[in-house]
Amino acid sequence: MAKCPKCGTDVAKPVKEWDIQPKQKKGPKVHISLYECPGCKTRFREAKRLA
Ligand SMILES: [Zn+2]
Repeated sequence: MAKCPKCGTDVAKPVKEWDIQPKQKKGPKVHISLYECPGCKTRFREAKRLA
């Protein structure tokens, strides 16, 4: 769940999700979620660090 940065609508499901591997092997993996707001059609990403 994420909030649209433009209009504040809660978006329940991401359109797309993927993981990014860090370039340095030591860094944490990052999980990216791409959301599209149903209200204003803004697309925004949310990055989450995986332990
Ligand atoms: Zn919106």
